[in-house]
Amino acid sequence: MIKNYHTIICGSGPAGLAAAFSSVHAGRRTLLVEKAPFPGGKLPVSGSGKCNFSNTLPEELFMASFGRNGRFMTEALRLFGREQLLEHLSRRKVPQIIVDDLYYFPASLKASDIRDAFLTPALEQGLILKTGTEIAHLDLENGRIRGVVLTGGTRLACEKFILCSGGTAMLPRGTAANGLALVREAGHKITPPLPAMAPLFLAQEGLKQLAGLSLPEAVISLVCGNISLQSRGTLLFTHDGLSGMAALNCSDTAYRCFENKPEKLKITVNFAPDMTFSDYCAFLEQIRKQEPEKLLKTALSALFPRALAAELCAAGGLTETKAKELKNNQKEPFAKLLSAFPLVLEKLSPMEKAMAMSGGVSLKETDPCTMQSRLVKGLFFAGEILDLTGPCGGFNIQFALSSGYLAGFSPNTAE
Ligand SMILES: Cc1cc2nc3c(=O)[nH]c(=O)nc-3n(C[C@H](O)[C@H](O)[C@H](O)COP(=O)(O)OP(=O)(O)OC[C@H]3O[C@@H](n4cnc5c(N)ncnc54)[C@H](O)[C@@H]3O)c2cc1C
Repeated sequence: MIKNYHTIICGSGPAGLAAAFSSVHAGRRTLLVEKAPFPGGKLPVSGSGKCNFSNTLPEELFMASFGRNGRFMTEALRLFGREQLLEHLSRRKVPQIIVDDLYYFPASLKASDIRDAFLTPALEQGLILKTGTEIAHLDLENGRIRGVVLTGGTRLACEKFILCSGGTAMLPRGTAANGLALVREAGHKITPPLPAMAPLFLAQEGLKQLAGLSLPEAVISLVCGNISLQSRGTLLFTHDGLSGMAALNCSDTAYRCFENKPEKLKITVNFAPDMTFSDYCAFLEQIRKQEPEKLLKTALSALFPRALAAELCAAGGLTETKAKELKNNQKEPFAKLLSAFPLVLEKLSPMEKAMAMSGGVSLKETDPCTMQSRLVKGLFFAGEILDLTGPCGGFNIQFALSSGYLAGFSPNTAE
């Protein structure tokens, strides 16, 4: 077998592109293999095609947003964090804008600008790109990478292989992701994949009937054993349940708890997040005195859209109740319902509705200083295939770029 390449990279999403750039920059003969007809991975659809590639959060908060394993990316961010990324984009004449003081986008609002800022210079420096080509198997010998086998049987030799195949979320219909199969071939443990950045599929028919309604802000609270989190943001009612930032950003934890400890999982939502339980009590008391003849659902539309107010009253068994008819012993339970409306998950979101995959290559078996496998010499991982997923807001693309850059740059201990 001829040693054709020093480095072969599987997948041309943000992780693979950054890996390709730093690999050729380090002078290594590099092949980037992409099974789709065009390079870019999920970049073209990210941020509705506008690509929210990073955010302004300080590094500690950025990492904490990925949960308790966030510090895994310390070295990747040190080498190619937000500042280095912004510098790189500016050098490549890609101006950036910040939306809502938080989210970075290319000023052109074109995801292709982010792709080209890595791909063009990599090609100029000798990167070889093969699209429409799938890596089917790894070629392993004595615990080290020897090369890869393409679908169709062609063998390619390499010293170093970087797996940047992304996850199983939102794949085009009829396609399957085999990145995890390659991980299994290498003998790595996989945290079972689950949907992340996904809508919440709810059992409550009443809420589903509000499909199309949206709220600028709501807070979803989740408790499951010693896990607790709050997710604040926009909320969108759908035919299946809830979407919008507040729902998407807690879906990862919600679905993992739903899979592992459904009996302990409690999810509630406050549809008017600036109102506390006492505020709701005071509000109910006030309408009892000031608007006694009004139906509760009409009075509550001062706080919520009319249809939601009606649904909340129905859930409290108060559909046709006037303000003056609200009994003393009903006031507090109803205020509790308003401040913490219970949500009942019906099922896992299908992967094709999720924007990201949680789970993937076990972090314990990957060296965070290089992204190299601790089990197979010459094998590296980057991006979403790793068991580290952030919320919406530029977290996942920044992590893919940072981890990809580090994986491409790191020397191979098998050399
Ligand atoms: C609709 C949508 C919107 C999003 N918006 C944002 C956003 O605005 N900001 C943000 O930070 N994140 C966003 N994300 C998430 C983000 O896009 C991903 O986390 C990120 O693209 C992961 O990068 P990656 O390089 O690891 O994988 P991917 O981008 O998934 O790329 C993997 C590539 O590997 C290729 N591949 C897989 N297996 C093989 C194989 N065996 N052989 C050859 N090629 C292979 C695939 O075809 C694919 O091109 C969004 C995701 C979706 C779906």
